[in-house]
Amino acid sequence: MSTTMNAVCYHAPRKLEIITKPIPQINDDQVLIRVTCCGVCGTDHHLAEGEFIGKFPLVPGHEIVGIISQVGRSVKGLEVGERCVADNTILCDSCFFCRRGEYLLCENFDSLGVTTSGGFAEYVAVQAKKVFKIHNLTDEEATLIEPASCAIHGMDKLSPPVGVKVLVLGAGPTGLILAQLLKVNGASHVTIAANKGIKTRIAQDLNAGDAYVELDRADPAPQWEELRKQHPYGFDVVIEATGSEQVANDAINFVRRGGTLMIYGVYSDSARVHWSPAKIFGDEIKIIGSFAQTHCFARAVEYLDGGKINVKGMVTDAFSIKDYQKALDKMNSKGACKVVVKPSLDPEYSAQ
Ligand SMILES: [Zn+2]
Ligand SMILES: [Zn+2]
Repeated sequence: MSTTMNAVCYHAPRKLEIITKPIPQINDDQVLIRVTCCGVCGTDHHLAEGEFIGKFPLVPGHEIVGIISQVGRSVKGLEVGERCVADNTILCDSCFFCRRGEYLLCENFDSLGVTTSGGFAEYVAVQAKKVFKIHNLTDEEATLIEPASCAIHGMDKLSPPVGVKVLVLGAGPTGLILAQLLKVNGASHVTIAANKGIKTRIAQDLNAGDAYVELDRADPAPQWEELRKQHPYGFDVVIEATGSEQVANDAINFVRRGGTLMIYGVYSDSARVHWSPAKIFGDEIKIIGSFAQTHCFARAVEYLDGGKINVKGMVTDAFSIKDYQKALDKMNSKGACKVVVKPSLDPEYSAQ
């Protein structure tokens, strides 16, 4: 085994370099994962642009799939050669919020690929307690376990009553997973509205929703109007999963009186919405946020590896580490659903 590896590195926002660096040394309670696949997501774009908390220099990549290649001395239940995914979160367990059991609000919330070295590299060191085995999913499909974990956290926040009628705005990976989670957790009807294109086609192939609204990018007004006509009482639950400031602003107009709006996208810090407090007050609208996840990986693995949530076909593109910028560009092109990085696509990759 060579002692160095290729990795994506941001020295600062927009300062991207593909570097060679030592393969990480593991502690007794860690495992070394040889990365087979790592998903690219909106967070990676915002990190690259300096619009999201990140600690530099940084090896990004937080949707990590791989094979265990080394096991720390005190690790039990994990063996070299096993396929796995890694929960990217690292919690301090001692801050004000951790001590209240509110781990998601941890004041020292660290994340592989956001504040510490992540998976756009050939190897990554991970706390063994954050590693989950997979059996049935392909490496590509397993990159959806992290987004699915975040979606499960969203479901926990939402705890939707039986029979709700739902509108999901956005058909990115998380929107498609949330729609399916809602269907298997009691929603009576799920409408997915998204820009016309590859993502809405995948949504239909997966049977992720019950109805689909394909928005025209240039002029979506007629489709919004039609949706309003078909659902004059709006929706019990509206999920904003596009990350668009404009869509977030308009989303509240589709919430039924007494309904809930969940803000789920990743937005620029500068994004603002302009909502009527009179409407929120008079219609008793509940607005909730859902950010990341902690401790949701086990359930996400059950749902995806068990096949109850279908992610087939969601990975549309794979790039090598060296082509990381192309991977980001492809994700931003709107012509992709889930984009992944695969170190094995690099010609000189020395997998063993
Ligand atoms: Zn992500
Ligand atoms: Zn904490």
